[in-house]
Amino acid sequence: MKTSLAIPVTKVQKSKLAETDFSNLVFGKTISDHMFVADYKNGEWTDLRIVPYGPLQLNPSNAALHYGQSIFEGLKAYKNEAGEALIFRADANWKRMNESAVRMCMPEIPEEVFMEGLSQLIDLDRDWIPTAKGSSLYIRPYMFATDDYIGVKPSDTYKFIIFTCPVGNYYSKPVSVKVETKYTRATEGGTGSAKTAGNYAASLYPALQAQKAGYDQLLWTDGKTHQFIEESGTMNVMFKINGKIITAPVHSDTILKGITRDSVLKLAKDWGEEVEERFLSVSELKSAFENGTIEEAFGTGTAATIAHIRLIHIEGKDYELPEKPSDAFSHRVLAELDGIKYGTKEDPHGWVMKF
Ligand code: PMP
Repeated sequence: MKTSLAIPVTKVQKSKLAETDFSNLVFGKTISDHMFVADYKNGEWTDLRIVPYGPLQLNPSNAALHYGQSIFEGLKAYKNEAGEALIFRADANWKRMNESAVRMCMPEIPEEVFMEGLSQLIDLDRDWIPTAKGSSLYIRPYMFATDDYIGVKPSDTYKFIIFTCPVGNYYSKPVSVKVETKYTRATEGGTGSAKTAGNYAASLYPALQAQKAGYDQLLWTDGKTHQFIEESGTMNVMFKINGKIITAPVHSDTILKGITRDSVLKLAKDWGEEVEERFLSVSELKSAFENGTIEEAFGTGTAATIAHIRLIHIEGKDYELPEKPSDAFSHRVLAELDGIKYGTKEDPHGWVMKF
Protein backbone atom coordinates (compact mmCIF):
# COMPACT_ATOMS: atom_id res chain seq x y z
CA MET A 1 0.00 0.00 0.00
CA LYS A 2 1.21 3.51 -0.82
CA THR A 3 1.93 5.47 2.37
CA SER A 4 2.93 9.07 2.75
CA LEU A 5 3.02 9.48 6.54
CA ALA A 6 5.64 7.52 8.42
CA ILE A 7 3.79 6.09 11.39
CA PRO A 8 5.98 4.03 13.74
CA VAL A 9 4.54 0.62 14.58
CA THR A 10 5.02 -1.42 17.74
CA LYS A 11 3.58 -4.85 17.09
CA VAL A 12 1.99 -7.14 19.65
CA GLN A 13 4.28 -9.87 20.93
CA LYS A 14 1.57 -12.44 20.46
CA SER A 15 -1.50 -11.92 18.30
CA LYS A 16 -4.93 -12.71 19.80
CA LEU A 17 -6.07 -13.96 16.39
CA ALA A 18 -5.54 -17.66 17.07
CA GLU A 19 -7.62 -17.57 20.23
CA THR A 20 -10.50 -15.61 18.69
CA ASP A 21 -13.66 -17.52 17.79
CA PHE A 22 -14.75 -15.83 14.59
CA SER A 23 -17.90 -17.94 14.44
CA ASN A 24 -19.20 -16.43 17.66
CA LEU A 25 -18.57 -12.69 17.57
CA VAL A 26 -20.62 -10.45 19.86
CA PHE A 27 -20.81 -6.90 18.46
CA GLY A 28 -18.19 -4.69 20.10
CA LYS A 29 -16.71 -7.31 22.44
CA THR A 30 -13.73 -8.60 20.46
CA ILE A 31 -11.00 -6.05 19.81
CA SER A 32 -8.22 -6.52 17.24
CA ASP A 33 -4.50 -6.50 18.09
CA HIS A 34 -3.48 -2.90 17.41
CA MET A 35 -4.65 0.69 17.74
CA PHE A 36 -3.64 3.98 16.16
CA VAL A 37 -2.97 6.85 18.58
CA ALA A 38 -2.17 10.55 18.12
CA ASP A 39 -1.84 13.28 20.73
CA TYR A 40 -2.82 16.90 20.39
CA LYS A 41 -0.68 19.40 22.25
CA ASN A 42 0.66 22.89 21.67
CA GLY A 43 -1.83 23.33 18.84
CA GLU A 44 -0.81 20.31 16.73
CA TRP A 45 -1.28 16.58 16.32
CA THR A 46 1.91 14.79 17.29
CA ASP A 47 3.39 11.43 18.19
CA LEU A 48 1.37 9.43 15.64
CA ARG A 49 1.86 5.73 16.35
CA ILE A 50 0.41 2.26 16.01
CA VAL A 51 0.74 0.23 19.19
CA PRO A 52 -0.78 -2.90 20.76
CA TYR A 53 -4.38 -2.34 21.89
CA GLY A 54 -4.25 -1.89 25.63
CA PRO A 55 -5.21 0.22 28.64
CA LEU A 56 -4.68 3.97 28.77
CA GLN A 57 -3.34 5.83 31.75
CA LEU A 58 -5.63 8.65 32.82
CA ASN A 59 -5.61 10.86 35.86
CA PRO A 60 -8.79 11.06 37.93
CA SER A 61 -9.08 14.74 37.00
CA ASN A 62 -9.20 13.94 33.25
CA ALA A 63 -11.51 16.59 31.76
CA ALA A 64 -13.38 14.23 29.37
CA LEU A 65 -14.56 12.08 32.27
CA HIS A 66 -16.10 15.10 34.00
CA TYR A 67 -17.32 17.41 31.27
CA GLY A 68 -17.82 15.06 28.33
CA GLN A 69 -15.59 16.50 25.61
CA SER A 70 -15.61 13.27 23.68
CA ILE A 71 -16.60 12.47 20.09
CA PHE A 72 -16.54 9.33 17.99
CA GLU A 73 -17.20 7.75 14.63
CA GLY A 74 -18.22 4.32 13.38
CA LEU A 75 -17.43 2.77 10.01
CA LYS A 76 -16.62 -0.65 8.59
CA ALA A 77 -14.05 -2.52 6.54
CA TYR A 78 -14.92 -5.58 4.47
CA LYS A 79 -12.95 -8.23 2.62
CA ASN A 80 -13.66 -9.15 -0.99
CA GLU A 81 -13.14 -12.57 -2.55
CA ALA A 82 -9.64 -11.61 -3.67
CA GLY A 83 -8.72 -10.92 -0.03
CA GLU A 84 -8.48 -7.14 -0.47
CA ALA A 85 -9.60 -4.79 2.31
CA LEU A 86 -12.45 -2.43 1.38
CA ILE A 87 -13.35 0.55 3.55
CA PHE A 88 -16.72 2.22 2.98
CA ARG A 89 -16.93 6.03 2.79
CA ALA A 90 -14.13 6.80 5.28
CA ASP A 91 -13.84 10.34 3.91
CA ALA A 92 -17.43 11.00 4.99
CA ASN A 93 -16.64 9.82 8.52
CA TRP A 94 -13.55 12.04 8.63
CA LYS A 95 -15.63 15.07 7.60
CA ARG A 96 -18.37 14.30 10.13
CA MET A 97 -15.82 13.79 12.89
CA ASN A 98 -14.46 17.26 12.24
CA GLU A 99 -17.96 18.75 12.27
CA SER A 100 -18.47 17.13 15.69
CA ALA A 101 -15.06 18.47 16.79
CA VAL A 102 -16.00 22.05 15.88
CA ARG A 103 -19.30 21.83 17.80
CA MET A 104 -17.54 20.44 20.89
CA CYS A 105 -14.64 22.97 20.82
CA MET A 106 -12.16 20.24 19.94
CA PRO A 107 -9.37 20.39 17.35
CA GLU A 108 -10.04 19.14 13.83
CA ILE A 109 -8.06 16.17 12.56
CA PRO A 110 -6.11 16.67 9.32
CA GLU A 111 -7.32 14.36 6.54
CA GLU A 112 -3.90 12.77 6.23
CA VAL A 113 -3.75 11.87 9.94
CA PHE A 114 -7.23 10.30 9.87
CA MET A 115 -6.85 8.47 6.55
CA GLU A 116 -3.28 7.29 6.99
CA GLY A 117 -3.84 6.25 10.60
CA LEU A 118 -6.93 4.35 9.50
CA SER A 119 -5.51 2.68 6.42
CA GLN A 120 -2.17 1.73 7.98
CA LEU A 121 -3.99 0.23 10.99
CA ILE A 122 -6.34 -1.77 8.75
CA ASP A 123 -3.43 -2.86 6.59
CA LEU A 124 -1.57 -4.19 9.66
CA ASP A 125 -4.65 -5.89 11.14
CA ARG A 126 -6.15 -7.01 7.82
CA ASP A 127 -6.33 -10.61 9.04
CA TRP A 128 -8.89 -9.39 11.58
CA ILE A 129 -11.39 -8.59 8.82
CA PRO A 130 -13.74 -11.55 9.03
CA THR A 131 -14.56 -13.35 5.79
CA ALA A 132 -17.83 -15.09 6.67
CA LYS A 133 -20.80 -13.76 4.73
CA GLY A 134 -22.24 -10.63 6.29
CA SER A 135 -19.36 -10.06 8.71
CA SER A 136 -17.03 -7.07 8.76
CA LEU A 137 -14.49 -5.14 10.81
CA TYR A 138 -16.13 -2.34 12.78
CA ILE A 139 -13.83 0.68 13.09
CA ARG A 140 -14.08 3.08 16.00
CA PRO A 141 -12.20 6.41 15.67
CA TYR A 142 -12.67 8.68 18.68
CA MET A 143 -11.20 11.72 20.37
CA PHE A 144 -11.36 12.95 23.94
CA ALA A 145 -10.00 15.71 26.16
CA THR A 146 -6.87 14.85 28.14
CA ASP A 147 -6.29 17.95 30.25
CA ASP A 148 -6.09 17.23 33.96
CA TYR A 149 -8.24 20.08 35.08
CA ILE A 150 -11.38 20.58 37.12
CA GLY A 151 -13.35 23.46 35.62
CA VAL A 152 -15.64 23.85 32.61
CA LYS A 153 -13.56 25.01 29.65
CA PRO A 154 -12.27 23.43 26.45
CA SER A 155 -9.26 21.21 27.06
CA ASP A 156 -5.91 22.20 25.55
CA THR A 157 -4.86 18.59 24.92
CA TYR A 158 -6.60 15.61 23.29
CA LYS A 159 -6.08 12.01 22.25
CA PHE A 160 -7.28 10.58 18.94
CA ILE A 161 -7.49 6.79 18.80
CA ILE A 162 -8.70 4.26 16.26
CA PHE A 163 -9.29 0.64 17.17
CA THR A 164 -11.26 -2.08 15.45
CA CYS A 165 -13.61 -4.97 16.29
CA PRO A 166 -14.45 -7.92 14.05
CA VAL A 167 -18.23 -8.25 13.99
CA GLY A 168 -20.46 -11.03 12.80
CA ASN A 169 -23.36 -11.05 10.42
CA TYR A 170 -25.64 -8.30 11.67
CA TYR A 171 -28.90 -10.07 11.13
CA SER A 172 -31.48 -7.92 12.75
CA LYS A 173 -35.00 -9.12 13.18
CA PRO A 174 -37.56 -6.47 12.24
CA VAL A 175 -37.94 -4.20 15.25
CA SER A 176 -40.78 -2.61 17.18
CA VAL A 177 -40.45 1.09 18.01
CA LYS A 178 -42.34 3.52 20.21
CA VAL A 179 -42.94 7.14 19.27
CA GLU A 180 -41.38 9.08 22.16
CA THR A 181 -43.32 12.16 23.17
CA LYS A 182 -41.89 12.91 26.61
CA TYR A 183 -38.11 12.58 26.44
CA THR A 184 -35.91 14.37 23.93
CA ARG A 185 -32.75 13.25 22.15
CA ALA A 186 -31.82 16.60 20.66
CA THR A 187 -33.04 20.17 20.63
CA GLU A 188 -32.44 23.05 18.29
CA GLY A 189 -29.26 24.74 19.37
CA GLY A 190 -28.11 21.55 21.12
CA THR A 191 -25.59 18.89 20.13
CA GLY A 192 -27.81 16.35 18.32
CA SER A 193 -25.98 16.68 15.00
CA ALA A 194 -22.61 15.99 16.66
CA LYS A 195 -21.53 12.43 17.38
CA THR A 196 -20.68 13.20 20.97
CA ALA A 197 -20.79 10.93 24.00
CA GLY A 198 -23.36 12.88 26.03
CA ASN A 199 -26.09 12.42 23.40
CA TYR A 200 -25.84 8.67 23.87
CA ALA A 201 -25.75 8.89 27.67
CA ALA A 202 -28.92 11.02 27.58
CA SER A 203 -30.72 8.47 25.39
CA LEU A 204 -30.17 5.52 27.74
CA TYR A 205 -32.95 6.22 30.24
CA PRO A 206 -35.75 6.82 27.70
CA ALA A 207 -34.61 3.79 25.66
CA LEU A 208 -34.73 1.65 28.78
CA GLN A 209 -38.28 2.81 29.56
CA ALA A 210 -39.35 1.85 26.02
CA GLN A 211 -37.71 -1.56 26.41
CA LYS A 212 -39.47 -2.09 29.74
CA ALA A 213 -42.74 -1.32 27.96
CA GLY A 214 -41.91 -4.07 25.44
CA TYR A 215 -40.51 -2.10 22.49
CA ASP A 216 -37.06 -2.53 20.97
CA GLN A 217 -36.31 1.12 20.35
CA LEU A 218 -37.62 4.66 20.25
CA LEU A 219 -38.74 6.88 17.44
CA TRP A 220 -37.45 10.25 18.58
CA THR A 221 -39.59 13.30 17.96
CA ASP A 222 -38.55 16.95 17.95
CA GLY A 223 -37.83 18.41 21.37
CA LYS A 224 -40.12 21.41 21.04
CA THR A 225 -43.48 19.97 20.00
CA HIS A 226 -42.92 16.19 19.92
CA GLN A 227 -45.04 16.20 16.77
CA PHE A 228 -42.40 15.43 14.16
CA ILE A 229 -40.30 12.28 13.70
CA GLU A 230 -36.54 12.78 13.83
CA GLU A 231 -34.55 9.54 14.27
CA SER A 232 -34.92 5.98 15.51
CA GLY A 233 -32.63 4.85 18.34
CA THR A 234 -29.13 5.47 16.96
CA MET A 235 -30.24 5.42 13.36
CA ASN A 236 -31.83 7.74 10.86
CA VAL A 237 -35.29 6.63 9.88
CA MET A 238 -37.14 6.44 6.57
CA PHE A 239 -40.73 5.74 5.62
CA LYS A 240 -42.22 4.74 2.30
CA ILE A 241 -45.70 6.20 2.11
CA ASN A 242 -47.81 6.28 -1.02
CA GLY A 243 -44.78 5.42 -3.18
CA LYS A 244 -42.57 8.18 -1.73
CA ILE A 245 -39.52 7.76 0.49
CA ILE A 246 -39.74 10.28 3.31
CA THR A 247 -36.97 11.10 5.78
CA ALA A 248 -36.18 14.04 8.02
CA PRO A 249 -33.80 16.66 6.57
CA VAL A 250 -30.34 17.00 8.12
CA HIS A 251 -29.92 20.76 7.89
CA SER A 252 -31.13 21.24 11.46
CA ASP A 253 -28.79 20.64 14.37
CA THR A 254 -31.01 17.94 15.86
CA ILE A 255 -30.29 15.09 13.48
CA LEU A 256 -27.08 13.20 12.85
CA LYS A 257 -26.02 13.29 9.20
CA GLY A 258 -26.00 9.53 8.72
CA ILE A 259 -23.69 8.21 6.04
CA THR A 260 -25.97 5.22 5.43
CA ARG A 261 -28.88 7.67 5.10
CA ASP A 262 -26.95 9.63 2.48
CA SER A 263 -25.98 6.43 0.61
CA VAL A 264 -29.57 5.14 0.60
CA LEU A 265 -30.90 8.47 -0.68
CA LYS A 266 -28.26 8.64 -3.43
CA LEU A 267 -29.18 5.13 -4.63
CA ALA A 268 -32.90 5.95 -4.39
CA LYS A 269 -32.35 9.00 -6.59
CA ASP A 270 -30.21 6.94 -9.03
CA TRP A 271 -33.13 4.54 -9.34
CA GLY A 272 -35.63 7.33 -9.96
CA GLU A 273 -37.46 6.85 -6.66
CA GLU A 274 -39.39 9.83 -5.34
CA VAL A 275 -37.59 11.13 -2.25
CA GLU A 276 -38.89 13.78 0.15
CA GLU A 277 -36.46 15.15 2.73
CA ARG A 278 -38.95 16.72 5.11
CA PHE A 279 -40.29 16.25 8.60
CA LEU A 280 -43.04 13.66 8.84
CA SER A 281 -45.55 14.44 11.55
CA VAL A 282 -46.76 11.83 13.99
CA SER A 283 -50.35 12.49 12.86
CA GLU A 284 -49.39 11.99 9.20
CA LEU A 285 -47.74 8.71 10.16
CA LYS A 286 -50.87 7.64 12.04
CA SER A 287 -53.09 8.53 9.07
CA ALA A 288 -50.79 6.55 6.75
CA PHE A 289 -51.50 3.47 8.87
CA GLU A 290 -55.21 4.22 9.06
CA ASN A 291 -55.65 4.77 5.33
CA GLY A 292 -53.28 1.96 4.33
CA THR A 293 -50.74 4.11 2.46
CA ILE A 294 -47.72 3.15 4.55
CA GLU A 295 -45.57 0.59 2.74
CA GLU A 296 -42.26 0.48 4.62
CA ALA A 297 -40.44 1.92 7.64
CA PHE A 298 -36.77 1.29 8.36
CA GLY A 299 -33.77 2.63 10.21
CA THR A 300 -30.46 3.31 8.45
CA GLY A 301 -27.06 3.10 10.15
CA THR A 302 -23.59 1.60 9.91
CA ALA A 303 -24.20 -1.30 12.32
CA ALA A 304 -27.20 -2.87 10.58
CA THR A 305 -27.23 -0.87 7.30
CA ILE A 306 -31.04 -1.32 7.17
CA ALA A 307 -33.14 -2.19 10.24
CA HIS A 308 -36.65 -3.12 9.16
CA ILE A 309 -39.43 -1.85 11.42
CA ARG A 310 -42.40 -4.18 11.95
CA LEU A 311 -44.47 -2.21 14.46
CA ILE A 312 -44.82 1.40 15.60
CA HIS A 313 -46.46 2.43 18.85
CA ILE A 314 -48.21 5.78 18.48
CA GLU A 315 -50.13 7.47 21.28
CA GLY A 316 -51.24 4.33 23.10
CA LYS A 317 -51.81 2.13 20.04
CA ASP A 318 -49.62 -0.41 18.22
CA TYR A 319 -49.66 -0.18 14.43
CA GLU A 320 -48.24 -3.04 12.36
CA LEU A 321 -46.42 -2.49 9.08
CA PRO A 322 -47.75 -4.52 6.14
CA GLU A 323 -45.77 -7.56 4.87
CA LYS A 324 -43.10 -6.40 2.46
CA PRO A 325 -42.68 -7.97 -0.98
CA SER A 326 -39.18 -9.33 -1.67
CA ASP A 327 -38.54 -6.47 -4.10
CA ALA A 328 -39.48 -3.78 -1.56
CA PHE A 329 -37.20 -0.73 -1.65
CA SER A 330 -35.56 -1.49 1.71
CA HIS A 331 -34.64 -5.03 0.57
CA ARG A 332 -33.26 -3.83 -2.76
CA VAL A 333 -31.22 -1.01 -1.27
CA LEU A 334 -29.76 -3.30 1.39
CA ALA A 335 -28.68 -5.81 -1.28
CA GLU A 336 -27.17 -3.01 -3.39
CA LEU A 337 -25.23 -1.48 -0.49
CA ASP A 338 -23.97 -4.90 0.62
CA GLY A 339 -22.85 -5.59 -2.94
CA ILE A 340 -20.91 -2.32 -3.10
CA LYS A 341 -19.35 -2.83 0.34
CA TYR A 342 -18.20 -6.41 -0.37
CA GLY A 343 -17.04 -5.52 -3.87
CA THR A 344 -19.48 -7.78 -5.71
CA LYS A 345 -21.32 -4.85 -7.30
CA GLU A 346 -20.15 -1.80 -9.17
CA ASP A 347 -19.30 1.26 -7.08
CA PRO A 348 -20.55 4.13 -9.26
CA HIS A 349 -20.14 6.77 -6.55
CA GLY A 350 -16.54 5.78 -5.66
CA TRP A 351 -17.50 4.98 -2.06
CA VAL A 352 -15.02 2.17 -1.47
CA MET A 353 -11.30 2.54 -0.73
CA LYS A 354 -9.59 -0.73 -1.65
CA PHE A 355 -6.10 -1.95 -0.75
N1 PMP B 1 -28.20 8.77 14.11
C1 PMP B 1 -27.48 8.56 15.23
C2 PMP B 1 -27.87 9.29 16.46
C3 PMP B 1 -26.38 7.68 15.20
O1 PMP B 1 -25.66 7.46 16.31
C4 PMP B 1 -26.07 7.01 14.00
C5 PMP B 1 -24.92 6.03 13.96
N2 PMP B 1 -23.72 6.67 13.61
C6 PMP B 1 -26.84 7.28 12.86
C7 PMP B 1 -27.90 8.16 12.95
C8 PMP B 1 -26.51 6.62 11.54
O2 PMP B 1 -25.33 7.13 11.00
P1 PMP B 1 -24.42 6.28 10.02
O3 PMP B 1 -25.31 5.84 8.91
O4 PMP B 1 -23.36 7.20 9.59
O5 PMP B 1 -23.92 5.12 10.82
